[in-house]
Formats: sequence, structure tokens, C-alpha cells
Amino acid sequence: MANGGPVQHGCPHLETVRAAITALYKRLSYDTVQTFSTSVAPADVAFCDTDDLHLGAQRVAREIVRHFRLPDARLIVGFREMTHAANVELAAGPEYFVELNDRFRTHRRDIGAALAHEVAHVYLHRLDLTFPTTAENEILTDTVTTYLGAGWLLLDAFREDAVSSQKLGYLTPEEFGYVLAKRALLFHEDPSVWFTSPQAYDAYVKGMALARRDEQQPPLTGAGWAGRRRYAHDRRHVAGVQPTAPYAFSPDTAGQLRVSFSCPTCHQRIRVPVKGRVRARCGLCRTVLECDT
Ligand SMILES: [Zn+2]
Ligand SMILES: [Zn+2]
Repeated sequence: MANGGPVQHGCPHLETVRAAITALYKRLSYDTVQTFSTSVAPADVAFCDTDDLHLGAQRVAREIVRHFRLPDARLIVGFREMTHAANVELAAGPEYFVELNDRFRTHRRDIGAALAHEVAHVYLHRLDLTFPTTAENEILTDTVTTYLGAGWLLLDAFREDAVSSQKLGYLTPEEFGYVLAKRALLFHEDPSVWFTSPQAYDAYVKGMALARRDEQQPPLTGAGWAGRRRYAHDRRHVAGVQPTAPYAFSPDTAGQLRVSFSCPTCHQRIRVPVKGRVRARCGLCRTVLECDT
């Protein structure tokens, strides 16, 4: 996990984040994702300065290992001087060696966040779910950590004031907020009450606005007036639809026009006939989609 440097904002990794959510559903299935309806509780990973450093780190690691249902995995947590924030050795297991940057000795409240990311690496390693490049794998890891209920810790580790800033993980704060919001919408959860960092809360609010926008794209009935108007126009001029549009038209084998768009929950591509009101169900995440095609 990276450490330091200026904090990047915005959503430069959004496509990879969305691909990571789709890949997670494909690998885990709807049923397994549903078993992660409860997030890591703040009390379970709390770490006060009077706690023994090593025993405390092992305790927090055990909690996160339990959260990811890795019963036989054992994390051996050590501290050393290093440029990265944390690192895990992905071996055959069941023992995994995690190194944390020495600075966590005095920043204990962020140890849960660092371990959440490293345990997610172990989880993905065991699932054999990977993306082609190291950079994409880190995005996948942060996205999965957050979508499955441990990543709010990473966002909460983001703090900024006039003279300093700190952030853990590879997603920007707004991207963490986005994935967290998608999780919140799925499980009707309100993670905002757990934040200790005001900047994390702000990023969550921005992420939620973006997540809601996914549900407001035509042909979904949640689309706003302007979107519906544009859609109606595009439907009449199919050849002129911009490649950046959130939907695409194409005829099926019988010549009937169909529209394809991303599922607002899992971003799997959905195709439905163009024939007015249509109710579709995403085959991957089972979200019921009310469309006006
Ligand atoms: Zn990593
Ligand atoms: Zn879906």
C-alpha cells in the first residue's frame, strides 16, 4: 500500500472501479456478496494508545480476517521502516506476513485501515481474482475492501488540514466515497456515522451524489427530464448516438431495436427491447430495473 505524496482528488479510476465491482459479482455471485451485509464495526477495530502494539495489531488483524471469512488464515503483523505504508506476502498460507510502516506505531488508529487493505489482498489471492496490472490490482483491492464492508476505514484515514494531509490506499477520497455509497445503497447502510474525519465525510457525500447519478441514467425511469429528452431524441436518430452516451442502440437478430446500458448496481451490461415501459432484472446482481425505453 502506498504512502505519502499529495492527495489526488476526483475520479480518475472510475472505469476500473466499476469493472472491479462487476468482476467481484462475477467471482462471488449475488448470494456471497449478500453475506457481507454487515460492515466491520468501529468497536471491533478500535485501537487505543494504551493497548499493547503487537497484541493490538494481531487482534485487529483477526477481526478483519474474520470479516472476510478466512477462518484458517493467520496474519503475522510486524513493523519496520519502509517507504510503503504496508505490505503483505502472498504465499500459499495459512500464515501471511504483513509489514506495517513504523509510523503506525504512533498512528495506531489507522492500523485497521492498513490491515483491511492487506487482508483484502489475501482474500483476492485466495479467490484468484486479479486484474492485469499492479496498478489495476490495487484499485481492485481497494474497491473490494470497500464494497465488502471494511473500506470505510481507509476513507476515514483520509485527513487534511492547512499544513498536512494523509491518505491510505489507491482510490481517491471521492472514489472511496463512491464505492462506499454504492454499498450503502445496496444494503441500506449509513456509514457516515462512523467517520471521525470531516474530510472523509465530505468525500462520501460527493461519492453518494455520483452513485445516485448511476441510478438516474436513461433508459432507467429514475432519469431526469433532460436525460429522458435526450434519450427520446437519440432513439429517433440511432445512428447519431454519441459513443459517450450511457446507452447504445442495436437491432437484435429479428430486427427489433434494443438498447444496452450499464446496470446501476454492478455495471454489467444489460440489453432490453425498445418498447416503452420494460422491467428488467440484472442477471448478475439481481437488481430490478424499471426502464422507459
Ligand atoms: Zn495493496
Ligand atoms: Zn447488476
